[in-house]
Amino acid sequence: MRNEKRKKTYKRDAEKSTLMSKEEKILSMAKQEGLNIKKLVIHNNLDSLATIDSRKNLRLQEIFLKADDEVLKALFRTFTHHSEKGDAGKVNTFIVMNRVGRNIKGIPKTLLRDCYGPEGKHYNLKSILNKIMRKYTGQIPDIYITWRKASSGKKYITWGTYREIGKGGIIKINKILDRSSVPRYVVESVVYHELLHFIVPTETRGDEYNMHTRKFKNLLAKFPHMEKADIWKKNYFFHHS
Ligand SMILES: [Zn+2]
Repeated sequence: MRNEKRKKTYKRDAEKSTLMSKEEKILSMAKQEGLNIKKLVIHNNLDSLATIDSRKNLRLQEIFLKADDEVLKALFRTFTHHSEKGDAGKVNTFIVMNRVGRNIKGIPKTLLRDCYGPEGKHYNLKSILNKIMRKYTGQIPDIYITWRKASSGKKYITWGTYREIGKGGIIKINKILDRSSVPRYVVESVVYHELLHFIVPTETRGDEYNMHTRKFKNLLAKFPHMEKADIWKKNYFFHHS
């Protein structure tokens, strides 16, 4: 009991200290890039994401606590006269990607009835989607991704679905994949597949339509563990029955 209590205190302290050091790191990086600032202020309002006020406070929206060094340096350079080509784009990409999934305006409530949101017990779909978009597609559609109610037929499982809404859409992933026994590359492969539907248009010929076109399949094959993932999915019924 006592031991447990002590462990908890340690954990809290550790969390606090990493947060502190990240803020300190941001401040020193900003100075290194030549910004004349006194203090870093982290805020959560969405109107102004990054500003320097008249008191020389660098005011950053809290999403920048998640930014890597490259994004932060690009951001700081945009305040200076030695800004590099591509800096603003890098920062904008980061901002857009970190808002993916937050804005669920425009998605009819009825579509979200069987959904739990992107954060699962084992896997966070939003971070998986962000990683995949950055790594494989370079495109950033406005997509909301969420776990949906676990369901499975006797011989057939719908691992994921997608639906276009306006210029973006919604991807739903079957909650049976949110388990420690499911390898990460399987979840990633399903997310990647659904994401590709937003990127590769469906081909129609008369009444027939083909969603999994040659272009789609070529892009699908670019995912490094696709074959392994397909085998795992095919074997699912042997492992879980
Ligand atoms: Zn498909």
